[in-house]
Amino acid sequence: MLAPLASTSPQPDSLWRHLAARTGTLDLPVGAGQLASDLQTEVAIVGAGYSGLAAAYALSRRGVPCVVLDANPVGWGASGRNGGVVSSKFRLSFPFIATHYGLDVAKRMHRLAHEGVRVVESFVDEFAIAGAEFEHTGSLRCAHTERALAACIAEADWVRTSLGDRTMKPLTRAQTEEETGSKGFVGGVLSEDAGTILPLEYVLGIARGLAARGVAIHESTPVVAMERTRGVPGVVLRTPAATVRAKQVIVATNAYSGITQATSAYQRELVPFRSAMIATERLPAALDAKLMTARRSYTETRRMMKWFRRADGRMLFGGRDAFGKEGQNTGFEALRRAMIALFPDLAGVPISFRWSGYVGMTFNALPHVGRSDDATVFCLGYNGAGVAMASLVGQHAAALALGETPDLALLAQDGLRPVPLHSLRAPGVRLVAAWYQFLDAVGV
Ligand SMILES: Cc1cc2nc3c(=O)[nH]c(=O)nc-3n(C[C@H](O)[C@H](O)[C@H](O)COP(=O)(O)OP(=O)(O)OC[C@H]3O[C@@H](n4cnc5c(N)ncnc54)[C@H](O)[C@@H]3O)c2cc1C
Repeated sequence: MLAPLASTSPQPDSLWRHLAARTGTLDLPVGAGQLASDLQTEVAIVGAGYSGLAAAYALSRRGVPCVVLDANPVGWGASGRNGGVVSSKFRLSFPFIATHYGLDVAKRMHRLAHEGVRVVESFVDEFAIAGAEFEHTGSLRCAHTERALAACIAEADWVRTSLGDRTMKPLTRAQTEEETGSKGFVGGVLSEDAGTILPLEYVLGIARGLAARGVAIHESTPVVAMERTRGVPGVVLRTPAATVRAKQVIVATNAYSGITQATSAYQRELVPFRSAMIATERLPAALDAKLMTARRSYTETRRMMKWFRRADGRMLFGGRDAFGKEGQNTGFEALRRAMIALFPDLAGVPISFRWSGYVGMTFNALPHVGRSDDATVFCLGYNGAGVAMASLVGQHAAALALGETPDLALLAQDGLRPVPLHSLRAPGVRLVAAWYQFLDAVGV
């Protein structure tokens, strides 16, 4: 099973929680506690990750009353566990989008991708989340073969000539080695409009900022049923202790939608894929001065992609693990081996933190935003790149709930479209992952 979810599972012991505990951020109040009495509002939002909070932000800016309900503490889901890579890309490249959907669509998608980064910057400024340590240092895509490098450079050339975007720059093998401290790559392409953030500090900072403006965020409040009201469009959301009546609901539960039956239909839009991370001890001075000193985020071109960055003087290394469940220890040793293959200097450095979470993959590799009925809007499926995109798309979901028509380009989805043969997703994902690992291993 890929997604045996339970709202009661504890938050993983991640580096992010360790840092937030050290700075005292975890002790600061975030929300309004469990919903204890019935209430009526304009828009109810289910999920207090980046998507749900961004929706609440957009509504509060327009003066629309709303309430946010989460089964767990703010940031319990992917928003508090991710790698903190802030990127301005989709999983589909812009040339691919132009070939299949036309240049105009590619331009609109490109604008959305970069707007996501602007939103992160503006949240950090507006809510004074200095503790999230957002650094606009760029992201370096490291190529593992000459063929992969040529494809990355061709994409950078296309983006420059067709979209006028000069933020993507090729790096030679020597430059990539100098940048990363690894001899494992033949070169790379730097995307300047990207960076890194401390993801849990970021989501907690947004939540506190919204709470200070009077937005009610109820943690420990699973939505166990959503029923349409009779007559006028609207929804009744049932939680263990109270109900919420709203004219509109925004479902922002992403890869954790299966927590209750009420939101499980949204789980069938996705193939939840476990993503795992490790963080080393703080590095000794010599390695600290050698590895990734530009403090960018780094990804590689293998199909079963790994990514890495620095934080708190440590090396962080992450990757998809199709074979394990959340909370299990499988996958971490394979990640450590992959890290040492790229950075042999780290062989003797102990691992201090291991954690994982689910990312929501979609069939078309793009996020989905739309209406599932006249009272319900959803946004989900960031395909492992949701820090910036969910911060933006949640706001567009709010606009949709209010009857506005934001430009969503290819992200717009008319109704739910469950993944075909959803019950076979677990063996299917494993099969594809095993094939990808084989292709990576033989270097094609
Ligand atoms: C290990 C890992 C690494 C990642 N790395 C990166 C990265 O480096 N860069 C990047 O851009 N993206 C990354 N991602 C993806 C990114 O974290 C997500 O796309 C993003 O956080 C999604 O935010 P969200 O608000 O939509 O969902 P979530 O943050 O998952 O929030 C969903 C919330 O809904 C709540 N919920 C679910 N069902 C109910 C219900 N019935 N009632 C009430 N509440 C409910 C859950 O408790 C949860 O808090 C990573 C993800 C993981 C797991």
